[in-house]
Amino acid sequence: MKGYAMLTIGQTGWIEKERPVCGPLDAICRPIALAPCTSDVHTVWAGAIGERKNMILGHEAVGEIVEVGHLVRDFKVGDKVLVSAITPDWNSLEAQGGYAMHSGGMLSGWKFSNFKDGVFAEYFHVNDADGNLAPLPEGMDLGAAAMLSDMMPTGFHGAELAEIAFGDNVAVIGIGPVGLMSVAACAIRGAAQIYAVGSRPNCTALAREYGATEVINYRTGDIVSQIMEQTHGAGVDKVIVAGGDNQTFMQAMEIVKPGGIISNVNYLGQGDTVPIPRAAWGFGMGHKQLRGGLMPGGRRRSEYLARLITTGRIHPEKLISHTFNGLEGVEQALIMMKDKPQDLIKPLVIV
Ligand code: NDP
Ligand code: ZN
Repeated sequence: MKGYAMLTIGQTGWIEKERPVCGPLDAICRPIALAPCTSDVHTVWAGAIGERKNMILGHEAVGEIVEVGHLVRDFKVGDKVLVSAITPDWNSLEAQGGYAMHSGGMLSGWKFSNFKDGVFAEYFHVNDADGNLAPLPEGMDLGAAAMLSDMMPTGFHGAELAEIAFGDNVAVIGIGPVGLMSVAACAIRGAAQIYAVGSRPNCTALAREYGATEVINYRTGDIVSQIMEQTHGAGVDKVIVAGGDNQTFMQAMEIVKPGGIISNVNYLGQGDTVPIPRAAWGFGMGHKQLRGGLMPGGRRRSEYLARLITTGRIHPEKLISHTFNGLEGVEQALIMMKDKPQDLIKPLVIV
């Protein structure tokens, strides 16, 4: 089969591989819709997960099942499915402990385009099919369905980790597709003020549509002074970090109130340590919690988040700014993701 792969750090290309083998609990799917992720860009061009040779990329997909293992209960050949980007081993001790995304070791629930071939291929393999696939709801827009792989669950996990509650004032730093989903999640969970930090015009407009009450441009002024001014010196109850760099934690710690939570879903790709400003952290006694997490993945989450789409409470298809056709389209879509043109939010490939 044909697949679009990371050949080595910094290089991608089309390769031929054997079609993956289906284990008794697994499924083999063909892709219907695909999306590249900022994480694929980090994997290839920043060497974020170390060297990988000839590994097929991609972890965001909607698929159709072409083969199922004999122990799979709920799915059959021909079913159209939502595919979670994170596919834990649901019988692992980590999953039983509530941290399925770390089943088999830290971050090891992330298998596609990390420990095994990803979804940018004619066929891809899904472990633990009953636990990691969900039926594609009848009539669901394919762009919305593709955003259920990673963008929506990750953005929403940011809001979960931050324990967004009624009336919270929140800052969401970074409003690419992940942060935009965090903004929408905060609005659904009852946040009051939502300060969305970003600069691209498409993203800032969509942030407002999803519920941001203020947009803060980090390029035209310091985030801390802008948010402190707008909150009359009080700061915010919660901060979700979905973009930026190591410096962003310094800013988040400055703007979050004592008792507040900083929730990170951003990939940190710089240096060996992350600085925390001592005074802003109350010299270690400020009751400011710093949390960070990989999105949990799995079928239940996909099905529950899908309900928010089928009931019209959220429209993640609005993230799709560019559409390509055919499997070959993943190449252009990924390069676009790397180059991040001003009008990009998220590209989609209809296979
Ligand atoms: P994007 O690159 O599309 O968005 C990043 C956002 O951060 C943009 O709004 C950008 O602003 C903003 N930004 C950049 N630099 C700064 C800065 N210095 N200060 C404040 N804001 C800044 O990324 P995605 O939304 O696709 O992904 C976000 C992160 O989430 C990535 O690191 C990705 O790897 C990670 N991720 C994590 C997952 C998880 O499970 N935890 C899963 C999937 C992704 P501008 O408008 O100027 O571009
Ligand atoms: Zn992703």
